[in-house]
Amino acid sequence: PAEPESPYRVVLLGASGVGKTAFASIFAGAADSMDSDDCELCGGEEKIKTTVDGEPATITLVDTWDTEQHMQTGDAYLLLYSITDRTSFLRASELRITLRRFCPAQNTPIILVGNKCDLVRRREVSATEGRACAAVFDCKFIETSAAMQHNIWEAFHGIVRQLRLRRDSR
Ligand code: GDP
Repeated sequence: PAEPESPYRVVLLGASGVGKTAFASIFAGAADSMDSDDCELCGGEEKIKTTVDGEPATITLVDTWDTEQHMQTGDAYLLLYSITDRTSFLRASELRITLRRFCPAQNTPIILVGNKCDLVRRREVSATEGRACAAVFDCKFIETSAAMQHNIWEAFHGIVRQLRLRRDSR
């Protein structure tokens, strides 16, 4: 059996209203089914124990509006915008640039997340644009819906897989 990994800090970044809290509460909801000792929800941080590819993973998820403070502390970042809000998409680009300044390591896992993909009629940012932006910023891309719980765990597992690739290449 694989050794348990030390907790990774995964930071949720993005404009207000894009769905960070909704994201965090889905993960917290899954953690609720475990021993209460395993689930700590305090000060926008929550510890999640789960299994990814048959290997246990512990993540400290940080949901914050105080982005600059957390830009140096994350092992990985989920960079959220809403597909219904172009301003939030532009904000995600700004955050990506700031992130590069704060955390210049080339291999820091970052996923650009286009949330609210259930709101098809209100879409302002196409998936093609999202993917192109991710390519420019050299990060992964996924569209999710916290409301429909679509692709949320895919995003989470994607981050864990990237963290492991980095760990294993050390
Ligand atoms: P935060 O400010 O980034 O933490 O955003 P919230 O998680 O508070 O979400 C803002 C609003 O968007 C809330 O009313 C959520 O219910 C809603 N919301 C979040 N994610 C989704 C989604 O995937 N689809 C839809 N339709 N609404 C969402």
